[in-house]
Amino acid sequence: MDSPLTSFLQNEIQAKKDKGLYNEVDILSSENGPIIKINDRELINLASNNYLGLATNPALKEAAIDAINTFGVGAGAVRSINGTMTLHQELETALAEFKGTQAALAFQSGFNCNMGAISAIIDKNDAVLSDALNHASIIDGCRLSGAKIIRYNHSDMEDLRQKAKEAKESQKYNKMMVITDGVFSMDGDVALLPEIVEIAEEFGLMTYVDDAHGSGVMGKGAGTVKHFGLQDKVDIQMGTLSKAVGVIGGYVAGKQLLIDWLKVSARPFLFSTASTPADTAAALTAIKQLKASDQLQTQLWENARYLQKGLKDLGFTLSPTETPITPVIIGDENIAQTFSKRLMEEGVYAKAIVFPTVPLGTGRIRNMPTAAHNKAMLDRAIEVYEKVGKELAIIE
Ligand SMILES: *Cc1c(COP(=O)(O)O)cnc(C)c1O
Repeated sequence: MDSPLTSFLQNEIQAKKDKGLYNEVDILSSENGPIIKINDRELINLASNNYLGLATNPALKEAAIDAINTFGVGAGAVRSINGTMTLHQELETALAEFKGTQAALAFQSGFNCNMGAISAIIDKNDAVLSDALNHASIIDGCRLSGAKIIRYNHSDMEDLRQKAKEAKESQKYNKMMVITDGVFSMDGDVALLPEIVEIAEEFGLMTYVDDAHGSGVMGKGAGTVKHFGLQDKVDIQMGTLSKAVGVIGGYVAGKQLLIDWLKVSARPFLFSTASTPADTAAALTAIKQLKASDQLQTQLWENARYLQKGLKDLGFTLSPTETPITPVIIGDENIAQTFSKRLMEEGVYAKAIVFPTVPLGTGRIRNMPTAAHNKAMLDRAIEVYEKVGKELAIIE
């Protein structure tokens, strides 16, 4: 007889396979740059979050190596005991300056940053208004907090206003917070932050923006909040060091008082070892570079516009994106999967994203152009799209 664990796992894995939701992981044998190697084949990479190419930047590599030589490979303790090094402090000062806030606090990942920060701020006596398309780490952070989760329809400001009004009038909650992604990663659309801030002011909501996909991309690199000039109006700005910044980690930027509180209450700060010297030094170097020049952002946006125009001119339908995220809508889930597979056979790596990550019938290929791509790579990708698109009768 199978053990309870084995039968549970077999059933669940089979159920996922039956629904076509069992993902096989591809293994890279190269760095995650504009060209990657999988199974000994070189592919044009349109799947990474390495927006600015910083994951493979020589200055960041050098900073990481220097940090290892000076500080070792591990921080040796959690931040609140003695794992905080001058590198962490310098990174946090740089982040606060970059974001235009009084202070900042770095975490080991964006995911644990949301888990730790949200649950340090709200609890079971509170309510959180959360956009229906918010990232999994926001959803988990909200659940962990025990607060009442009130979902509003994606970027639907009437729905948010109505639900904020009801929550306020019920007088059931000590505190209320609205939480949203700055850039939504499946469509590339941008949160309506000016309206959200206005509603928050009207109903006394705290505001929390997760700018994982906006940092380094929007607002000359400083993110979506800065893009809208709202750095004094958004209470809690969260971001990652793992997407455009190219390394790993997360952070919260805001008032000094907020950071003081997180240092004594955010559980990943208190109970999980500090990020490594190498990661911290590399992230610090990236933030300094982003502050010094917007050349990489300019290149990213130029490449994104070029790819988006090329695909539209061929007759493909893109999601209503406002950022470099370039989803090509295919529709049927199976055709989207086949499309991605055919792209790979032709030398282009781009992932299919299907239900339940996106609504049923809106299966898509999500393309992530970066500053590190050159025109020849993008032209080749567009050529391959034309071939596969005609073959699968998505375009004429
Ligand atoms: C990727 C992402 C995270 C998690 O960040 P990591 O640094 O990869 O853990 C959190 N929020 C959003 C919106 C994201 O896209």
